[in-house]
Amino acid sequence: MSNVKAGTHVGSPAAPAAPAVSNFIRQIIEADLASGKHGGAVVTRFPPEPNGYLHIGHAKSICVNFGLARDYGGRCHLRFDDTNPVKEDVEYERSIKEMVEWLGFSWGEHLHHASDYFDTLYAFAEHFIERGLAYVDSQSADEMRANRGTFEKPGVDSPFRNRSVEENLRLFREMRDGKHPEGAHVLRLKIDMASPNLNLRDPAIYRIRFAEHHRTGNRWCIYPLYDYTHCISDALEGITHSICTLEFEAHRPLYDWILARLIESGKLKPPAPQQIEFARLNVSYTVMSKRKLLELVATGVVSGWDDPRMMTLVGLRRRGFTPASIRLFAERAGVSKAHQWIDMAELERALRDDLDPKAPRAMAVTDPVRVIIENWPEGQVERLSAPVHPHDESRGRREFLIGREVWIERDDFRPAPEKGFFRLVPGGEVRLRYGYIIRCERFETDQAGKVTTIHATYDPATKSGTPGARNVKGAIHWVAAADALPAEFRLYDRLFRVPDPDAEGGDYRDHLNADSLKVLRGWVEPTLSDATPETSFQFERLGYFCADRVDSRPGQLVFNKAVGLKDGWK
Ligand code: ATP
Ligand code: MG
Repeated sequence: MSNVKAGTHVGSPAAPAAPAVSNFIRQIIEADLASGKHGGAVVTRFPPEPNGYLHIGHAKSICVNFGLARDYGGRCHLRFDDTNPVKEDVEYERSIKEMVEWLGFSWGEHLHHASDYFDTLYAFAEHFIERGLAYVDSQSADEMRANRGTFEKPGVDSPFRNRSVEENLRLFREMRDGKHPEGAHVLRLKIDMASPNLNLRDPAIYRIRFAEHHRTGNRWCIYPLYDYTHCISDALEGITHSICTLEFEAHRPLYDWILARLIESGKLKPPAPQQIEFARLNVSYTVMSKRKLLELVATGVVSGWDDPRMMTLVGLRRRGFTPASIRLFAERAGVSKAHQWIDMAELERALRDDLDPKAPRAMAVTDPVRVIIENWPEGQVERLSAPVHPHDESRGRREFLIGREVWIERDDFRPAPEKGFFRLVPGGEVRLRYGYIIRCERFETDQAGKVTTIHATYDPATKSGTPGARNVKGAIHWVAAADALPAEFRLYDRLFRVPDPDAEGGDYRDHLNADSLKVLRGWVEPTLSDATPETSFQFERLGYFCADRVDSRPGQLVFNKAVGLKDGWK
């Protein structure tokens, strides 16, 4: 039915999820705007390394960076930090772009790659050498590590630290020209081997790597390192606020040092971008490190990067999380410097809050038991209807049949009910939503005692909506055998049994939840016949389900359970 399709909601524009709550980053930006520091500009960037799929933590960073640009009328760049040719891949780039757009953000003209700046980065490196601020070090990696010192112990100067500018230039050019094997030399900044900040102890900025780069091919056999590349890339792009996670706090003095040197020699224009750190997002009952996500995929624990149990954005999307729900989640999580550990329930709550006003309703029976209504004439059906959305009549009504045979949820019948069970019991009555009250007369079981058929009678005077019709306490969802469509339901639970699988000791995989996927076969009402993949529905009394974007098609419906109706498991 077309009115069900009209409920499709994904891809709403990335409007602020809620009035933006102030935070320390906003305060910095507002102060800069007030003082005119960057001439009124707010330019941020999201700088993923294209070496994996994005996860919910990245979504947080995307929402922060693109959200600030949106709220302050600035812009946000998407920059691939592609300085490590060994681990990077165009497939990851494609997926990252797709996910940023899916979240509702746009980088406009500003898609950049750190590799766009390889020439400039190289020229600046020679400039550092010429100023006596960089040298080629020929110590082995082990020697370099040993001489770096520790928090307690200052480092030791390299024996190559005082090479002449000429020798450094010659060696660096030979490195560039492929004259030296990997590991033979690195280029280091000459800062201070005794600095209390280890990042300032002559950090390496270039290393030799005979590897093909996915964009620059074999043009380079030396590659710049992250700390050197990142600040310069920021400055070249006119980034005003370079927002990153807390582990970079101790790198900030190096970020500032490099840019200050280039500004003082006129290579870059002031003011330098300001690096600002916030706490990374962690979510309970999951792992987020790229290595572990990759391991789960590679060892077949999950079906792929887009397995709906994964906290990857492709996984969350497939499960039925909407862009708006993820933006809402990120907004609610807020920005701070304090360690941030957020319960998975918050993510689920955001999805419910997003879907409740939008998702069309439908009835689905995931674990069916047949009910035969014995006083319903054989071969006769009646057309019933229900609102597409209970709070929005303008969305119209959905129609379905009722007949002699209906399917109900196994869990809605108890042969021997416990106290307070208001659904169907032997001799008891229950309302079939939008239909009639039925009474259970008897039931059949198989040899194992499993209920196979319920025999019932209905009361024709109790049709829903009939003025003065009597009612009963329980009302259950159902579908008619006459028009229900078969469907597969994939019910997901948390991938791990414990909130923090990393902190439990042993291997994080020891804490996998063996029951995190349950596949059921049942029935859905006929309005779902053309359910567009990736459309979300509220299956009445069951939760929010999404037509699987990979496997679901007309005639072969597959629904993923995204989240239950209430907080809590299942
Ligand atoms: P890697 O260990 O490979 O660097 P990463 O998760 O930091 O992994 P990046 O591609 O470097 O991956 O991340 C891109 C951006 O996303 C960075 O600015 C990073 O700080 C941010 N980011 C990554 N994880 C989180 C998280 N859990 N919460 C908030 N921001 C995050
Ligand atoms: Mg990183």
